[in-house]
Amino acid sequence: MRALLAGARRKQTSLLSLTRRLVLAESPSSDKRAVDACVALAAAQARSLDASVRVHPQRRFGNLLEARFTPHRATSSTGGKPILVLGHLDTVWPIGTLKTMPCRVRGGRLWGPGAMDMKVGAAMALTAIEMVLEAGLLRREIVLLLTGDEEIGSPASRPTTEAIAKTCGAVYVMEPAQGLAYKTARKGIGDWRIEVKGIAAHAGVDFEKGANAIRELARAVETVSGWTNRKRGLTVSVGVIGGGAASNVVPAEAWAEVDVRIPRAVDAALMVRRFAALKPADPRCSVAVSGGISRPPMERSRGTVRLFQKARTLASELGFSLGEASTGGGSDGNFTAALGIPTLDGMGAVGEGAHAQHESVFLDHLAPRTALLAGMLIH
Ligand SMILES: [Zn+2]
Repeated sequence: MRALLAGARRKQTSLLSLTRRLVLAESPSSDKRAVDACVALAAAQARSLDASVRVHPQRRFGNLLEARFTPHRATSSTGGKPILVLGHLDTVWPIGTLKTMPCRVRGGRLWGPGAMDMKVGAAMALTAIEMVLEAGLLRREIVLLLTGDEEIGSPASRPTTEAIAKTCGAVYVMEPAQGLAYKTARKGIGDWRIEVKGIAAHAGVDFEKGANAIRELARAVETVSGWTNRKRGLTVSVGVIGGGAASNVVPAEAWAEVDVRIPRAVDAALMVRRFAALKPADPRCSVAVSGGISRPPMERSRGTVRLFQKARTLASELGFSLGEASTGGGSDGNFTAALGIPTLDGMGAVGEGAHAQHESVFLDHLAPRTALLAGMLIH
């Protein structure tokens, strides 16, 4: 592991310059051409490492990069199932963000839109794979999959991610670390929309004829918010509401958008049942709900814990202690873990400010984490 660490330190400059190229290719999820251009950069890098590269074209969202690194000699192969290294190249930042958040190295950090989440992670993956190849230690196929729509829930890439994951023995997700820790559990995510229809009426002249949709919605907001169970880790948060036309009109319409986080897969059915059973208190109003669980939870499975324990052992050989964390945020690791594939997440950047102005990566951790990833690819 010490040799890997020295190797990762030697590669830090090229890792940073690759990251810089990826960050300069701004790639908001909504801009297919921009994401495709960023994906093409990573594809070129993978080709330079002799990967067999397949770009999965997408119609609306960014293309997917699938790069396969296969052991040359059958004799050196362990015959194990491939390892999937998973990440995304889209970001939450619109084109032009670089003007106010330039890509630069300063104060021991690399700054820039999407640097931490997760272009550094993609560059770390390519660098760790390069190290494994150069050391002649590739004994198990590695599949690097970089998607282009993760930040908007992976609507287009999910089937491909799941199909590839099913053929793999382990999934390493290059999302940022949680503080200094790898992630072994993530909550599942649900999105629901509640729409209430009432009856419009003049608030002064015909008050009794009206059925107030906003009042009815307020009751529904209270009801669903009450399903939160902090002890269990289940949360229901109404994030956006709207409704009404004018203050002197009894409103005929109101709606709310609801964020649901579930720690366990069994909670999904419960939530679906409860939302479906929402009924108006005022019979003249109607309540319609749509939505559902968009990401299943990544539960802390035995296989994932085994991966984490291996990572912790290798980290201690590198001279640092690796923490384990869980989070309420989702990633594509949710999909692979839900299929029962051991999935270790948070293997990318250490830094702070994902999705925020101060998004930045701590340079001190780059080489050790890249070495750790390389170790995980060969042990
Ligand atoms: Zn991310």
